Amino acid sequence: MAMMPGATNRLLANQARQGRMQSYDAAVLHTMVGSLAGTDSMFQKDGTVGTESHFGVGENGEICQWVDTAYTADANYLGSGHVISIETADYGGSFGRWNTNGDNVPYWNAKQIVAIVKILQWVHKTHGIPLRAMKSVTEKGVGYHAQGVPNNGLPASLRGTKYQWSKYPGKVCPGKKRISQIPEIVRLAQGNTAPTTQPAPEPATPKGVLGMTKRINAYRKKAQKATGTRHLMIDDKGNYTIATGPAEAVVSAKADISGLKKGEHGFLILAEVMYKKGQPTVISREIATVKVTANTVWSVAGAWALPKDHKGKSPRLRLIFKTSSKTATAHNVYISGVRD
Ligand SMILES: [Zn+2]
Repeated sequence: MAMMPGATNRLLANQARQGRMQSYDAAVLHTMVGSLAGTDSMFQKDGTVGTESHFGVGENGEICQWVDTAYTADANYLGSGHVISIETADYGGSFGRWNTNGDNVPYWNAKQIVAIVKILQWVHKTHGIPLRAMKSVTEKGVGYHAQGVPNNGLPASLRGTKYQWSKYPGKVCPGKKRISQIPEIVRLAQGNTAPTTQPAPEPATPKGVLGMTKRINAYRKKAQKATGTRHLMIDDKGNYTIATGPAEAVVSAKADISGLKKGEHGFLILAEVMYKKGQPTVISREIATVKVTANTVWSVAGAWALPKDHKGKSPRLRLIFKTSSKTATAHNVYISGVRD
């Protein structure tokens, strides 16, 4: 059994007839040409008899799991025994209606990006799939459907092998706009790659994600107390604030939590707080929360539009640890993100 915590359980009937995964080479992104609800009802109707994927991501970042990752899902044709597949919504609702002939799939929105980041982090932790953007179908890591499609990314010499991910030549899934977002999404999933020192600011990418081109990077190696409702320092200079409003941001944060005693837990929270010098800083919104139950590395990801100053208070994005433990500490705090 391998079910992702936080995903809605929509397991299809007769999982076991799918056969077990033979290896975990890649997490592969797809687009539905549809909505999550529509795709879900199609998959539920056919059960595991038709084509299905392991995960689905909706327009609002909802995650559902259709197939236990112990078993194969058929979305990647000959690669299905080696690939975790992730379908994503792209049609109707806020995406509107678009001409589905051609390569017109709209960009993933911020909530979908956060959901994809969470799935990638989970499959990395659970199945060891590397958090790197695959340059070709034979690498291991995070890829997209068209990389294994004949007359598209698949080299002719690999037809008929496990690298052939579709029967249908020329398929463009998940579309050029979404493909362009993948490197930044993988970077967000990594949390940060800085080894031991404060990372140098990276140049803004030409596209970034969602037109957000400023990168957010911070790293604090030193241990800090993480008791009570504690705003965590994000660098060794003692800064707390990840972003100050007004700003739109997609952020992933990681922290190594230790000092929890048996039975103790905590919550790692990406939060909007209202700051004013000389006044208590209050949490105005919990953007994303993960329950921390053991002494190990935890990650949390979220997207948020920080408003402008409000009644003399400045809205800020911070990482907070909340616990009743008297001994919890945090070290190796990594912040990675993009903002406008
Ligand atoms: Zn696909």
